[in-house]
Amino acid sequence: MTPSLTVVGSINMDLVTSTERVPNQGETVLGYDFATYPGGKGANQAVSASRLGAKTNMIGAVGSDAFGQELTETLRENGVVTENVKPVTDIPSGTATIILSDGDNRIIVNPGANHSVTPDYIESCAEVLRSSNVVLMQLEIPLETVEKAAKLAKEGGATVILNPAPIQALPKSLLQWVDIVTPNESEAKTLLNHSPQPILEDKLMITKGSEGVLFYENGKERHIPAYHVEPVDTTGAGDAFNGALAFKLSEGCTKQEAISYANAVAALSVLKSGAQTGLPTQAEVQVFLE
Ligand code: ATP
Repeated sequence: MTPSLTVVGSINMDLVTSTERVPNQGETVLGYDFATYPGGKGANQAVSASRLGAKTNMIGAVGSDAFGQELTETLRENGVVTENVKPVTDIPSGTATIILSDGDNRIIVNPGANHSVTPDYIESCAEVLRSSNVVLMQLEIPLETVEKAAKLAKEGGATVILNPAPIQALPKSLLQWVDIVTPNESEAKTLLNHSPQPILEDKLMITKGSEGVLFYENGKERHIPAYHVEPVDTTGAGDAFNGALAFKLSEGCTKQEAISYANAVAALSVLKSGAQTGLPTQAEVQVFLE
């Protein structure tokens, strides 16, 4: 049976080196730790939805390398359908090389295979998109691909959610196919200042970290508070939120119900370190909400 929630987006391996200080030009320093973590906003959001019980399909690409195999396997282990995760040749899997150093973190993202998620590839996944009732996307794959996927999804009657990260101006040709845009506070500022086309307020759902979420209903601003928790690591809170939101909307919940649930999922995610490792299961959310 075709899953009804589809995520179209990036799949990356995060390569994290911890060091006392970052090297100067031409210098070598010793690090004190190294670890790899499956990531990429697309994959994180798909895992978030799947752990909550959503039938989740992922559309994306990995390299034909060891990272690609591991990334696909991790998605499968989390219950995500990976028939539309294609291994591409001669291009490495997407990576984020992260140097963690006290107060001076540096990150290089190499999109690699994520850039081969082209509009043509999306066309070949048209059936999945047309038969989904919610399609969730971010901006770590080419913008023209996001636009194509949004159009196909919308034509099939899906609710289309766009998490506009990393932020860039959103053209009208894309926004016309999108129902909900979920920026965080700083992305929202950029969007409101720089989008050539003002975003209809009714489409906006702004996440504000520990302050919760702002959204609009019938032209009125509404606020849903976050859950009060002591965060351990807020990395990936946005991904947890978006996956959960998409899941609840695919079940037919109202915006308000879906946001409340997604706030709980995101609050649980900040209690553990790591973007994917911190994502809660359906059972954990149930216990938290009891
Ligand atoms: P990130 O980039 O760290 O993944 P983000 O900037 O995309 O996150 P935020 O607005 O910081 O997104 O957080 C998303 C949601 O996560 C919030 O709307 C809220 O529900 C939850 N959240 C984030 N931080 C906290 C916190 N400290 N306490 C409770 N909930 C939180």
